[in-house]
Amino acid sequence: MMKIKLSDVNNASGGKYKFAFVMPAGEFDFPTDNYRIDGTIKVNGTIENTGAGYHVEGSINCHRCFICDRCLENAAEDQLHTFDEVYETEDSTVQDADAVGSDSIDIADLVRDIIIAGQPISNICKPDCKGLCPKCGINLNKSECDCDRTVIDVRLAVLKNLLKKN
Ligand SMILES: [Zn+2]
Ligand SMILES: [Zn+2]
Repeated sequence: MMKIKLSDVNNASGGKYKFAFVMPAGEFDFPTDNYRIDGTIKVNGTIENTGAGYHVEGSINCHRCFICDRCLENAAEDQLHTFDEVYETEDSTVQDADAVGSDSIDIADLVRDIIIAGQPISNICKPDCKGLCPKCGINLNKSECDCDRTVIDVRLAVLKNLLKKN
């Protein structure tokens, strides 16, 4: 839970109330996927009562661990995500009603959704990862091998075989 007291928000001088949370990633129910959010999650932001609702914006720092799709090594990266959301209080949707209590707003679900939505589809340790040699399996980021890695188009290979027969 990442609860912000509404009395603090409503009494904030200048209208904007600053908040900060630090929570272990394990407290969030992240899906078991091809990555893991590890360590602590830091959230910083401001919240403002706009009359019709509460406007929250800020940033999230988290740490992602994964296995590279190309070289199969363990990899990790620090991520920064931003959010900008309005919790309606007048015309409340079901989702907002869950988060907005009578005396507080819980932004934990928002933080979780932003982190999940911000994950890349592929797991690549670095943009120029050379991957593994398809023949001997060596990690080409770390060493070289003498394998012939020329990729032959399947259709060309068929043609080649036909030519051989004649
Ligand atoms: Zn890699
Ligand atoms: Zn090789």
